[in-house]
Amino acid sequence: ASGLMAGKRGLIMGLANDKSIAWGIARTLREAGAELAFSYQGEALKKRVDPLAAQLGSDIVLPCDVGDEASIDGLFHSLKERWGQIDFIVHAIGFSDKNELRGRYVDTSRGNFTMTMDISVYSFTAVMQRAEKMMKAGGSALTLTYYGAEQVMPHYNVMGVAKAALEASVKYLAEDLGKDGIRVNAISAGPIKTLAASGIGDFRYIMKWNEYNSPLRRNVTIEDVGKSALYLLSDLGSGTTGENLHVDAGYHVVGMKAVDAPDI
Ligand code: NAD
Repeated sequence: ASGLMAGKRGLIMGLANDKSIAWGIARTLREAGAELAFSYQGEALKKRVDPLAAQLGSDIVLPCDVGDEASIDGLFHSLKERWGQIDFIVHAIGFSDKNELRGRYVDTSRGNFTMTMDISVYSFTAVMQRAEKMMKAGGSALTLTYYGAEQVMPHYNVMGVAKAALEASVKYLAEDLGKDGIRVNAISAGPIKTLAASGIGDFRYIMKWNEYNSPLRRNVTIEDVGKSALYLLSDLGSGTTGENLHVDAGYHVVGMKAVDAPDI
């Protein structure tokens, strides 16, 4: 893979720590020669993100709360001063009140519904409004979604509804930006133990279930996601846009798994 991203510059949004999906993606892109910038939410995360960025040869670490338009403008303003132009962007951001990521979807409050949609869905569109202007030579954008958008998964609740909207927005963005040579795709990752995932009820059980029931009979890693991200963000993915690529050990194709015991 070395050299695939040589001469390409891009922004990674959503790095919180070395368990983050954004970290698996950033490392893979860097190994392939990309130059990276990072955005983080809140001062508390800066001291975690600074050393991770440094490990990947980057000193561009900028604050951005995607719930705030002025903050997004500030991020792209700084990035434009630094680089002028970008080639790719990774949006690995989602948020919901963890009290509503357990129990029943029907009990979702209006306030958390709106906030979840704002941070987890609209933010990608808001970011692409700015990124478009910095992708004069075309580009590639990637967001992260989950199977709970397509089928009901326990406890995923309002986040499933938000991911369904995010997946639809990927298609609309792909159409709008395609004529400028900008590709927009999603990766639907299987469950991975991260900070965000720890907010979801019974997450360990969900991981076990995926491990037993997926065709590859294992869970995916942030490295698995990183490699598929490299495909979508590099020239290897030149013909692909509006796509939702499942990186889930095949879990999404299984309706019911055969039991190994012969007489059941
Ligand atoms: P993570 O906790 O490492 O990353 C989530 C990031 O979202 C954090 O960096 C956090 O700072 C950021 N964020 C939240 N609110 C924000 C705001 N207002 N402004 C800016 N940033 C904000 O967890 P992760 O699992 O790596 O999550 C990355 C993405 O992957 C999310 O969209 C998540 O839904 C998605 N995803 C995760 C899994 C999984 O099992 N972990 C599976 C499929 C998809």
